[in-house]
Amino acid sequence: PRIVIAIDGYSSCGKSTTAKAVASQMGYGYIDTGAMYRAVSLFFLQEHVALSNSREVIAALDNIHIAFKHNNRTGKNETCLNGLNVEEEIRKMYISNIVSEVSAIPEVRWAMVAQQQKMGRRRGVVMDGRDIGTKVFPNAEVKVFMTADVYIRAKRRQQELLAKGEMINLEDIIQNLEKRDLIDTTRAESPLVQAPDAILLDTSHMTIEEQVEWVIELADR
Ligand code: C5P
Repeated sequence: PRIVIAIDGYSSCGKSTTAKAVASQMGYGYIDTGAMYRAVSLFFLQEHVALSNSREVIAALDNIHIAFKHNNRTGKNETCLNGLNVEEEIRKMYISNIVSEVSAIPEVRWAMVAQQQKMGRRRGVVMDGRDIGTKVFPNAEVKVFMTADVYIRAKRRQQELLAKGEMINLEDIIQNLEKRDLIDTTRAESPLVQAPDAILLDTSHMTIEEQVEWVIELADR
């Protein structure tokens, strides 16, 4: 039977890299819910939406269409915002700096959660985020909650950004991770918390291959 695998946890623990590889090995779909909140953040910035004005927020949400497209040429998944590929843009630091504020807005979460539930309704998906096992798919068959030492997470994130040509110092990255984790864990609407039936995975001293194997073994049980 095709199941739902929910991978939640703190920022930059390796959730998406792991989830992507698990999905490809299992022949499952992969849904990066963080990319959706990032795309919303980009749109709000572009349109100068006042985050505290819920009427503006709701109106803007009506004009947002997010889709994931597979690029056959690069073999990669692309996040599309209203038909445009925003994959690269949404990974930049200026988006990371506002995304947790945007994703804490209840109206934003309601809209994204509804869309995520639709995307996973036929099951056979690996979904990564912050509230997949608690809110989006509380009945997911496999739930993983990822954590890792903040210094190690920041180092990994720094390497990722560097590979894309963005040079950010470690202190700024640590600050961003800690700030996002704080906002994510303390917001009123479905905060980041380990689901009671989720299994904790500390990736501090694991390779990606080990993480992938660990999740697949859990799914095979
Ligand atoms: O996973 P990623 O780091 O790209 O997510 C960006 C931000 O989106 C997170 O810091 C969090 O604020 C928000 N997010 C969320 N719920 C999700 C996925 C992401 O609130 N399911």
